[in-house]
Amino acid sequence: MTDGQSTSPSDLFVIGGGINGCGIARDAAGRGASVVLAEMGDLASATSSSSTKLFHGGLRYLEYLEVRLVREALIEREVLLRAMPHISWPMRFVLPYHPDIRFESETPISKMLSKVMPWMKGRRPAWLIRMGLFMYDNLGGRKILPGTSTLSLKGTKEGAPLQERFERAYEYSDCWVEDSRLVALNARDAEARGAKIMTRTKVTHAQREGDLWRVETEDTETGKTATHFAKMLINAGGPWVGDIIHDKIDLPSREGVRLVRGSHIVTRKLYDHDKCYFFQGTDGRIIFAIPYERDFTLIGTTDSEHKDPAQRPVCTPEERDYLIDFANRYFAKSISKDDVVWTYSGVRPLYDDGASSATAATRDYTLKVDAKDGAPVLNVFGGKITTYRRLAESALEKIGEHISLSKGAWTAGVPLAGGDFPVDGVAALVQGLRGKYPFLSDTWALRLVRAYGTEAEKLLGEAKRAENLGRDFGATLTEAEVIWLMRHEFARTAEDVVWRRTKLGLRLSEEEISALDGWMTSRRERADAAE
Ligand SMILES: Cc1cc2nc3c(=O)[nH]c(=O)nc-3n(C[C@H](O)[C@H](O)[C@H](O)COP(=O)(O)OP(=O)(O)OC[C@H]3O[C@@H](n4cnc5c(N)ncnc54)[C@H](O)[C@@H]3O)c2cc1C
Repeated sequence: MTDGQSTSPSDLFVIGGGINGCGIARDAAGRGASVVLAEMGDLASATSSSSTKLFHGGLRYLEYLEVRLVREALIEREVLLRAMPHISWPMRFVLPYHPDIRFESETPISKMLSKVMPWMKGRRPAWLIRMGLFMYDNLGGRKILPGTSTLSLKGTKEGAPLQERFERAYEYSDCWVEDSRLVALNARDAEARGAKIMTRTKVTHAQREGDLWRVETEDTETGKTATHFAKMLINAGGPWVGDIIHDKIDLPSREGVRLVRGSHIVTRKLYDHDKCYFFQGTDGRIIFAIPYERDFTLIGTTDSEHKDPAQRPVCTPEERDYLIDFANRYFAKSISKDDVVWTYSGVRPLYDDGASSATAATRDYTLKVDAKDGAPVLNVFGGKITTYRRLAESALEKIGEHISLSKGAWTAGVPLAGGDFPVDGVAALVQGLRGKYPFLSDTWALRLVRAYGTEAEKLLGEAKRAENLGRDFGATLTEAEVIWLMRHEFARTAEDVVWRRTKLGLRLSEEEISALDGWMTSRRERADAAE
């Protein structure tokens, strides 16, 4: 017996409110499909809030000859920048080079190199890096992002934080994105186009009933159960994609997912400029050091096998020390575990292509439809934050074979909420906001513009003074902003607000976060009682 039953079947039932589930839901709703999405936690509570947060082509994937993926991702960077200039922005990456660095690398390119030039074994020569960057610059049709340049590290701000042995570097472009906000804004747009988004709703079972899927869900807060019917099921469960196939919907599929954990450490700001570093390790891997949230530096990531999706990924002491040691081979001033103020970890749900190492497993996505025994299901494997929109378009091509859609691909030129302004328009928006709301500091106004873009004004409303925004929870988080996030962005708890809709968790104390949680709980209870 279930506590509720949806009335008429929807076209699609999407399992998973990460970037892929929300991206598909948005695209499908915009093409007239009726969509229901269930996410068992908060939106982006799994992998999609724990990425390195780059819209990037993935320079290192060129060594694995993943040219299709790199090209698609490179082209996509600028499409996405234009659609969300508030939550994404261009960044320059400094790749220090030293001829003495040796690498243990098993990539197709390094194997080829050591065959044709045996004396090159264990090296990644400067000309190879330059060639890779040439391809990186030219595969993806750049218009906004500047190309590669060479850089002297002697006496420059880029060289200052590094050890003296690094004298030269290459500098190239990629982009930053606020990953968890990207998911929330996609969900919001999907809802605005008619999708029903249910968070804290776990799919416990689904089975075919003739031409339909019968989907059972459970509200993870109240325990209430419900039954839904849909013409097509979309399994965008990320790390749980295999668990859903085998345990929730019992498909006789042999497709496998490979779970690869990646961890990051966050330290207080290690240097004073706005560029990132791309460091190459002796094990053939690479890590980034990225300016983060104005006062911090983000360093990552690792690649470790992760067995069970139900086991919450955490950055282990070994991973933390690996990242510290890696960075210390480059930075002049060594860091230690005492410098680490926060860590986070996520699990890549990669398509199992049989690669020998976690690092080598493909980062490309694979979409598999099973329609043999009745109503169709689409299983989503792999993917990158960067390719989510293209993944959704490819998914919609497959969905279109089973569900009638009112139009073709449409998301390329359509901004997400608050992103309807030019890519270089942030400074003007901040200035405008400070003009209208003189009580905002520069950093406060910039934070609001980077989160809400042109909607920051709607959030602030008619406020004349800071007090008009209601209770101050600390670090410029006000009652008005929290209400906005609860009303428009599906936030329910303090954790949703301070770690996914914002990163103010880095600045708020435990007491402040707990006070916010208490306030949100009582507001939710009042709203539930009024229903
Ligand atoms: C360390 C790391 C760094 C990365 N860096 C980058 C990067 O810089 N750039 C980039 O482009 N990509 C990056 N990626 C890749 C990218 O983050 C992922 O490919 C992407 O987030 C996967 O999204 P998803 O929607 O498939 O999975 P998820 O975000 O994990 O979403 C799946 C959702 O399904 C839900 N779910 C599962 N089972 C059920 C159920 N039974 N009922 C209801 N809900 C369910 C889960 O709660 C989860 O929220 C990185 C990944 C990692 C791990």
